[in-house]
Amino acid sequence: MAKKAIPKKVMKSASARKAAKGRAAAPSPKRGKTGNDVAKPWTAAEVMQAFGRFAAANPHPKGELEHVNAYTLLVAVVLSAQATDAGVNKATRALFAIADTPQKMLALGEERVRDAIKTIGLFRTKAKNVIALSELLVARHRGEVPRTREALEALPGVGRKTANVVLNIAFGEPTIAVDTHLFRLGNRTGLALGKTPLDVELGFERIVPAIFKQHAHHWLILHGRYVCKAAKPDCARCVISDLCRWPEKRV
Ligand code: SF4
Repeated sequence: MAKKAIPKKVMKSASARKAAKGRAAAPSPKRGKTGNDVAKPWTAAEVMQAFGRFAAANPHPKGELEHVNAYTLLVAVVLSAQATDAGVNKATRALFAIADTPQKMLALGEERVRDAIKTIGLFRTKAKNVIALSELLVARHRGEVPRTREALEALPGVGRKTANVVLNIAFGEPTIAVDTHLFRLGNRTGLALGKTPLDVELGFERIVPAIFKQHAHHWLILHGRYVCKAAKPDCARCVISDLCRWPEKRV
């Protein structure tokens, strides 16, 4: 009996479901038409070269979320979940001008916080979290942002990625926060393959040389945002194009 063809509609919805789970960006580890192979591990010398080039191109990389202290950085990162940095900055400029400490944010109250961030997705839940985390900072940490992952992750709305960003930017820890850009980049280039953000984070942890760990997160996020973009990677402008393992790179 002839095999029944899978209707296109079904295929589409299956891939949409997969994308929604955040796994569609991981490439298949097969040899591609360029002869590259994402399954072929990078050598230590290649990794050193790649990060050396990122460092030469941008010696002092900076995050794009505006903040004036560790507290406003924490709030900005919490607000940035499923939102763009530019969109968050637009809302927080006015908010942080009047509330740059947990005490001031609590005095402002949830309703006014909600109003200030209403242009950001999920603003109702985020406003609740900002107030709840400010309460906990005052109650448990004398209004200061804690410096440990455990204490940070105990705050409402704060997960591993947010804790990593705060530890890195506010406290200078060599953490690597894996967002959608790092997840895609790790899998595409073959630098850090993994099915979950934690796999990819641990992969980067293993391979990034100690001297580059402090800024690795920023280099990678900027590379993912402006060069190795999700839909159309700009391989012609890429400083690691000769090293990248992605079979479909266009160089
Ligand atoms: S060569 Fe292309 S796919 Fe590979 S890292 Fe550079 S931009 Fe991304």
